[in-house]
Amino acid sequence: MNLEDRKNIHGFRLLDEQMVTEVNSKTKLFEHEKSGARLLFLENDDDNKVFSVTFRTPPTDSTGVAHIVEHSVLCGSRKFPLKEPFVELVKGSLNTFLNAMTFPDKTMYPVASRNEKDFRNLMDVYLDAVFFPNMLKDPEILMQEGWHYELDDKDSELTYKGVVYNEMKGVFSSPDAILDHKILEILFPDNTYGFESGGDPDVIPELTYEQFCEFHSKYYHPSNSYIFLYGNMDIADTLKFLDGEYLSKFAKQPIQSAITPQQAFTKPVDKVFPYAVSTSEPTEDKSMLSLNFVVSSANNAQSYLAFQMLAHLLLDTPAAPLKKALIDAGIGKEVFGYFTESLLQPTFSIIYQGQIKQTKKNLLRLSIKHFKHW
Ligand SMILES: [Zn+2]
Repeated sequence: MNLEDRKNIHGFRLLDEQMVTEVNSKTKLFEHEKSGARLLFLENDDDNKVFSVTFRTPPTDSTGVAHIVEHSVLCGSRKFPLKEPFVELVKGSLNTFLNAMTFPDKTMYPVASRNEKDFRNLMDVYLDAVFFPNMLKDPEILMQEGWHYELDDKDSELTYKGVVYNEMKGVFSSPDAILDHKILEILFPDNTYGFESGGDPDVIPELTYEQFCEFHSKYYHPSNSYIFLYGNMDIADTLKFLDGEYLSKFAKQPIQSAITPQQAFTKPVDKVFPYAVSTSEPTEDKSMLSLNFVVSSANNAQSYLAFQMLAHLLLDTPAAPLKKALIDAGIGKEVFGYFTESLLQPTFSIIYQGQIKQTKKNLLRLSIKHFKHW
C-alpha cells in the first residue's frame, strides 16, 4: 500500500513528509488520532530496523522514580509474565541493539534487529512492558528494583538494598558523577534538571509504592509517547500492529510533562562542596573546579551544532586553545570539558582536576565572563 495515497492509515494521520538527504531517508511524521501518540518514521533501505518508544518523564524529586520505573517495567508484563523478560530477550533474540535508558527528562526503550520476526517480537515485548507492566500490581517489584530494608540476622544492622539503590550508590562513589549531579542541581534550581533522575541514594528510600505507580500512570501513556521507526519495513503492517495491539486501547489525554525553562541568574553562583575519599587515599590532587554555562536551547539548531563543534575545538585535543591556555595558567593539572546535548537547555562545562591553585583569581584573569556558576 502506498502511504501517499492515504492520509489516514490504521488510525494514524500523516502530518508531514520530506526527504532528508543527510540521512538518505524519507521522513514521515504521524499522529495516532485516538491515543495522541506521535510517530516518526525514517524510511530507507537499511535492513537493520530500529524501534524506540520514549516518554517524557521529568522528575519532581531525587527519589530516582524515573530510573526505578525504567527497571521495573522490564520485570514482567501482561503478555510476558516472566520475572526477567529482558534477560531472556538478550539470550534468544537476534537483536543488534537492545537497551533502556533514563535521561534527566525522558526514558527511552530502543531496539534494533535485521530479522523481521525478531523485530516485531521485540516491539511487542517492549510495548507490553511499558503499557501493561506487572509492577502496577506487584509491590515487590519496587522493593527488588528500587529499595527495601535488609537484615541478615536479628543482631545485625538494618540496611537498604535494591538494584537501583545499589547502582546509584556505586555511581555516587565517583567524584565525577557527584560533580555532574551538583552542576545540574546548581544550574537548574527551579526546574526538573535540578533533580537526580537516576536517584540520589539518600533520597531513594523516600519513594513510596503509590508514588511509583502514579509516576507510571501519569507518564507512560501514548499521549506522552514518542515512537520512532527506522529502516526498510512494511510500514502499513507495522502501523496496523501498533494500532491494533496497543494504541487503540487508549484515549488521548492532556499530560503535563513539558519542561519550564530555567531563567538566567542575575549574578554568578559560586559553591563549594566537600566529597569523601577512603581513609587510605591521599587528599592531594583530588580537588575539582568547574565552570558551567546554560547554552541556549536544544531547539536552536544553530547554537546546538556550534557548541558541539566548539567543545571539541576548544577542549578535546592537547592543542585545543582553551585547554592549552588553562593548563599554561598552571591552575590545575588536567582540564576537560563537554557540551551536554540531551537536555532542553544544554550546558557547557569546563572542569579542572588536580591541585587547584588560587582558583578564582587565576580564572578571572583568563577573563571568562558571563558565567552562571563556578
Ligand atoms: Zn539502572
